[in-house]
Amino acid sequence: MTPTRPTGTQDLLPDSGRAPLNLRAQAFEHIRSVARHVLTHAGAARIETPMFEPTDLVQRGVGDGSDIVRKEMFSVSHAGSHGDAVLRPEGTAGVMRAYLQNGLSQRPSPVRLWTDGPMFRAERPQKGRLRQFHQVDYEVIGSAEPALDAEAVALMWDVITALGLTGARIRLGSVGAPRDREDYSAYLRDMLTPHAARLSPDSQARLERSPMRILDSKDSGDQALLTELAPRPLLERLGPDARAHFDQVCSLLRAWDMPFDIDPGIVRGLDYYTQTAWEVHHGGVGAKSALGGGGRYDGLAAALGGPPTPAVGWALGIERVLIAMDTEDLDVPLTGGPLLYVAALGPEHVALAGRAARLGRAVGACELAARPIKPSAALGHALRRGARVIGLVGDNEAERAEITLKELASGRQITIPITDLPGALEALA
Ligand code: AMP
Repeated sequence: MTPTRPTGTQDLLPDSGRAPLNLRAQAFEHIRSVARHVLTHAGAARIETPMFEPTDLVQRGVGDGSDIVRKEMFSVSHAGSHGDAVLRPEGTAGVMRAYLQNGLSQRPSPVRLWTDGPMFRAERPQKGRLRQFHQVDYEVIGSAEPALDAEAVALMWDVITALGLTGARIRLGSVGAPRDREDYSAYLRDMLTPHAARLSPDSQARLERSPMRILDSKDSGDQALLTELAPRPLLERLGPDARAHFDQVCSLLRAWDMPFDIDPGIVRGLDYYTQTAWEVHHGGVGAKSALGGGGRYDGLAAALGGPPTPAVGWALGIERVLIAMDTEDLDVPLTGGPLLYVAALGPEHVALAGRAARLGRAVGACELAARPIKPSAALGHALRRGARVIGLVGDNEAERAEITLKELASGRQITIPITDLPGALEALA
């Protein structure tokens, strides 16, 4: 029986140019390189953190009551240990842990970091929702300036537009300062408690500790009750500091011509968010339409046991971006075949053909035939691979350490010392 991959995962295949973008390894590489370009030009440095982290770090970072922690964690165990580590469900907690543990606070503030890689959540798989998915993450740590929130939104937008997407929209909101959230939680609790019996069991459990999470509930009964009671959004109940912060972010985004809608309904699922919160949506992705989201998380460092450290950041879902690009008929540049396909005409020439390929790789992709073949067979292989030049090494060439090159498009043929190969390929590349 053919082996199969785990539910909710994808194989990213070598490009054919025909498969959907979210199944093509090269499309992932393209997004990473666009993100790298945009983010490094903004002063962000690359960081890499482990794919698994201590369970309690993720619990504290993502929030004990969140769906991710309650239902979606993949635990990592090995002989002699059980459940003390989990596959990371998102990148921020690990990056903040690395910042605290490695003393990055000693660097000039703010510290701008970026990373990308797989994240793991045991969700029910559907279009745009996987158990292993990939994110680009950008995090700015060490400053509470609203300009950094605005810059973070703008950089996320720049990555999306640099990919050619035109159908995305930014939705911007604020979850306020911790004090505003406490007040708002009390307001919601007072409003919902008399109707508690009509709430889903999940929401009833949240009523005491995190009533704001009820706003995020997917249960239709919960949503009907919320529509009926129509609580005022938190955005309309911000204290003066949070209001000023939000207004400053909005005015910078307007000054930079960022197209955004104010969305009072944005409630980030994670506990450590404060102030600015945003999502970028795209109609082509379907019900799960968020390409990415971000926000300020001034409470995270302290929640992880470090000194209070303000920070803002975002995550962009690579698979969702690729689905959006497919719906807009965007493509990514294909690498194409090798520059040179090199074949030995007899077993005694494999060493020299291999040397030629190694020299040529200083200039471009050079693929070595797997075994000695006849010139006609070599030509067939080269054509199928989309090579531009074929290189042959037979008895005549071997005598003087030469190689015969044939440019497939023009049919032009030359025989040169293999030491001249890089120069000859350079002229063609
Ligand atoms: P979050 O960390 O939940 O704010 O998610 C940020 C982005 O990651 C989302 O907007 C999606 O693009 C992507 N994402 C989150 N969960 C999944 C998933 N299960 N499958 C695919 N992409 C996801």
